[in-house]
Amino acid sequence: EGEVALVGRSNVGKSTLMRELTGHSFDTGGKPGVTRDPNHYDWAPEDFVITDLPGFGFMSGVDEEYREEIKTNIVHYLEEYADNVLVAILVVDGKSVIDIIDRHSGPDEIPYDVEMFHFLRDLGIPTVVAVNKMDKVDDRDERLNALCDRLGLLPPWKQWQGTIAPIRAKQGKIEPLNEAVRDHLHEQERDDL
Ligand code: GDP
Repeated sequence: EGEVALVGRSNVGKSTLMRELTGHSFDTGGKPGVTRDPNHYDWAPEDFVITDLPGFGFMSGVDEEYREEIKTNIVHYLEEYADNVLVAILVVDGKSVIDIIDRHSGPDEIPYDVEMFHFLRDLGIPTVVAVNKMDKVDDRDERLNALCDRLGLLPPWKQWQGTIAPIRAKQGKIEPLNEAVRDHLHEQERDDL
């Protein structure tokens, strides 16, 4: 059984999205960083397992060493199961992602979201970036174009609808993501024929 892997910094809305995707309820807004192991759930409408990888990045009360450990675990998991991961969903917070990326860009620093995006692609895992909290974003096209730019995708973002999926998980508006994921899954079915 193939799996869809969900990755993202903490507080981007991963639990909220998981609830939308699976119909299960998850501990949203709870103590972050408590779960450091991958969790597997059935994804109802599709015959896949969805794997929730731990949230990464700054979490209050979580020290640097533990954060690094979480990150290492995520990387190892993806390397080990890359062949089984049909699609990865990298969840970002549309409201803050550009600021966070730019703040962490430097001569010897690669921002986590950018690093993860390229890491997943290098593993050969088709990746969809779920840009969440779009209800808080006014300059939608500008923001999504900026994100493309930071990820090394040539804007405009509309050319990347299989890769960039603006959503509002809290309001249950995740159709662009479902569509992008479905496209990738069916692409692979065709390749397998
Ligand atoms: P996680 O740490 O990534 O699992 O994030 P959560 O699912 O716990 O969500 C973190 C916060 O973001 C919560 O307060 C959610 O209600 C909020 N949130 C999630 N999705 C959205 C969204 O689409 N729009 C807005 N405005 N807030 C959201």
